[in-house]
Amino acid sequence: MQLLNRLLALFFILAPTTVSQNLLELPSDDSFLSHYDDDWEDPKPPNTVYCESWRLSVETNNAGDWHKIPHRCTDLVKEYVNGQQYATDSKVVARHAQSYAKTIALRHDGKDVWIFDVDETLISNLQHYTTDGYRSKVDNETAFEQWALLAKAPALPWSLWLYKKLQGLGFNIILLTGRKETHRNSTEQNLISAGYHSWKKLILRDLTDTGKSAKEYKSSKRAGLVAKGYRIHGSSGDQWSDLLGQPQAKRSFKIPNPMYHIP
Ligand SMILES: [Mg+2]
Repeated sequence: MQLLNRLLALFFILAPTTVSQNLLELPSDDSFLSHYDDDWEDPKPPNTVYCESWRLSVETNNAGDWHKIPHRCTDLVKEYVNGQQYATDSKVVARHAQSYAKTIALRHDGKDVWIFDVDETLISNLQHYTTDGYRSKVDNETAFEQWALLAKAPALPWSLWLYKKLQGLGFNIILLTGRKETHRNSTEQNLISAGYHSWKKLILRDLTDTGKSAKEYKSSKRAGLVAKGYRIHGSSGDQWSDLLGQPQAKRSFKIPNPMYHIP
C-alpha cells in the first residue's frame, strides 16, 4: 500500500511537467530561430503578425546584427513609421524618460548630463529613406551624406519635447552622433532649425574614430566624459549601439527604429 501511495505521488508530480513540456515544445527546424526569416514552414503567419514579431525582436535587440528589413515587412514598416503607432511608441519612451529624470537630484554644477543621439533620435530622416525603400536595400552612405548636407530633417516631436523638459529640469545636454566632424556646420544648422538649442557639446566622429564601430566610438566618448567628471544620468538613442558599451548611462531609453541597424 505504501508503494502504491508513492507511485501515485510520483505520477501527480510528473504529470503536469509532461503536459507543460508538450505545450511548450518548440519546432525543431532552424527557421524558428532565424533573425529575419522569410521562409517559414506551415502554418505561415500573416505578414501583419510576423512583422510585429520581427519589429519587437529588433527593438529589444534580440535580432542582433540584422541587415535589412524582410521583404514581406517593407510595406508594414513604411506604414508604421508614418503612422500613429510610431508616434505613440516614441511618446511613451519620452514620458518614461521624463518620469525617471524627475527623480534625479541634480547637483547643478554643470556635470549632470543627458546624452542624445541625433539621427532618428532628435531628427527624422524619413524623407530621405522614403526614396530608399525605407532602407530595405543596403544603405547608400554617400546619398545619406548628401541629404544630411541639406540640413532639412525635421524634429521628432516627442524627442524635442523631452529635450526641453530635461533642460527645464536642469540637465546639460550632450549630443553624440556618428556623423563626421566635417558635417558639424550642417548638423548644427539642422538641429537649430528643427528647434534644438543650447546643448553643451556636440560630439562627432573625427579622424581618430575611423574604423571604430558605433558602439566602440560612443563608449569611448562616454568614457572621456566620465573622466572629466560628468555624471551621465540618461541616454536616448534609436540604436542599441548608442546605448550599450562601457561606461553606460544610468538609464538608457531606446527610441524605435525598424528601418536600419548600426552595429
Ligand atoms: Mg541614430
